[in-house]
Amino acid sequence: MKGLKKFYRKTLQERWDVLQDRKILTNEQIKCLKRTTDATELGNSMIENFIANYSIPEGVSFHYLIDGRDYIVPMVTEEPSVIAASSHGAGLIKKAGGFKTKIKQRLMLGQIILEDFQDFQELREKIDHEQASLLRIANEAHYSLIKRGGGARWIRCRKLADDLMSIDLAVDVQEAMGANMLNTMLEAVADYVRKEFSQTVLMSILSNYATECLAVAECSMPLSNLKKENFTGEEIGHKIVQASRVAQLDPYRAATHNKGIMNGIDAVVLATGNDWRAIESGAHAFAARDGLYRGLSQWTIVGGQLKGRIELPLPVGSVGGSIGILPLVKVNQKILNVKSAEELERIIACVGLGQNLAALYALVSEGIQKGHMRLQTKSLAIAAGAKADEIQQVLSMMSKTKGKNLAAAKAAIKEIRRNKQHERN
Ligand code: NDP
Repeated sequence: MKGLKKFYRKTLQERWDVLQDRKILTNEQIKCLKRTTDATELGNSMIENFIANYSIPEGVSFHYLIDGRDYIVPMVTEEPSVIAASSHGAGLIKKAGGFKTKIKQRLMLGQIILEDFQDFQELREKIDHEQASLLRIANEAHYSLIKRGGGARWIRCRKLADDLMSIDLAVDVQEAMGANMLNTMLEAVADYVRKEFSQTVLMSILSNYATECLAVAECSMPLSNLKKENFTGEEIGHKIVQASRVAQLDPYRAATHNKGIMNGIDAVVLATGNDWRAIESGAHAFAARDGLYRGLSQWTIVGGQLKGRIELPLPVGSVGGSIGILPLVKVNQKILNVKSAEELERIIACVGLGQNLAALYALVSEGIQKGHMRLQTKSLAIAAGAKADEIQQVLSMMSKTKGKNLAAAKAAIKEIRRNKQHERN
């Protein structure tokens, strides 16, 4: 489209002008973009073709008692009820002593993919034999990691097809998520493999299937703690176990079960400046690790206690990427008061489990809609055009109507304004 060529070379003002001149946006809409940008235009130096800072609401979740320590958890999400549910789930777990966590190890994996090799077995032996040299080459490519106590740890080979294989490099990336440092190391090793072993390298890149960076969170509570209105604690506990079984058996349910878990996880990953696409892809790959896509968490009853467990890859960082750049991330790290990326992993795993408990608890008792719609109605009122001073009235009118939809919200606003007009007359 004319005027959009070389958009990346234009100043911010020129980009807005083009969008307005080409009638892609109105003057009002351009004003809306302008209001989001700050004096430093940080976003302009972070991404390409920047036009605005898109903002998502942030809140805090409470009751996270993890390994004996209390945490306040910042969460960034556009979805109503996620934070309320998170605090509710964490509260149920705190009442019974809180979460316990385990971190198995913290290594990131990268791949060098070779094609058209001759003999897999022979090449694997050669690589095994030269493992020490290859690790040294990797470490020399990002030497600062060694000084921090990290570095390349091991290499393995996997045959993917008759003509394709993967050389996997495992690296201790210390406090970073490690994508860029690992990619630098992989390219150095790939270069050596290409020249010294005369192999054809298809590509080198880290893997987001971070199986060597797993976090586990567990909790346990007496069934009596789950009692609610018309249900006994035993009934709710039994139903939660059944719901957990369904998520192990049926990918249709597992996807939604895991979406609920990621509601919490993504919100903290975003708040801490981490790469949520990386966490999402790793989590879903892990959910399908035995060939069937399953729920990431499981619930059982043992000796009158409901026990929950979640395990997933959480390659998050406390430095690197946008973490050191976005001002709010620093504030959120302060709210969390975490000392390391490993501690952050532990918290995020707990948020996933707490979120899951709250969702299952609601689903198997009163259903998710009762609580959800209370908050969803507020979004409907705003989407229908309610002003700040009209929202409460819209909510109260909609609480009396059956159809809680956009049309009902619009009708409520119309009535409120009509009544106001009458009063004025
Ligand atoms: P960086 O490239 O920012 O590297 C980490 C930085 O943190 C380095 O500069 C390192 O310094 C510094 N650092 C300071 N203290 C420490 C410490 N204690 N431990 C480790 N590093 C420290 O970030 P990452 O390599 O973590 O890469 C993350 C970014 O990569 C994200 O933005 C992600 O979106 C992106 N990405 C993701 C991909 C994927 O997931 N597939 C692919 C490509 C990019 P020094 O240089 O001195 O070592």
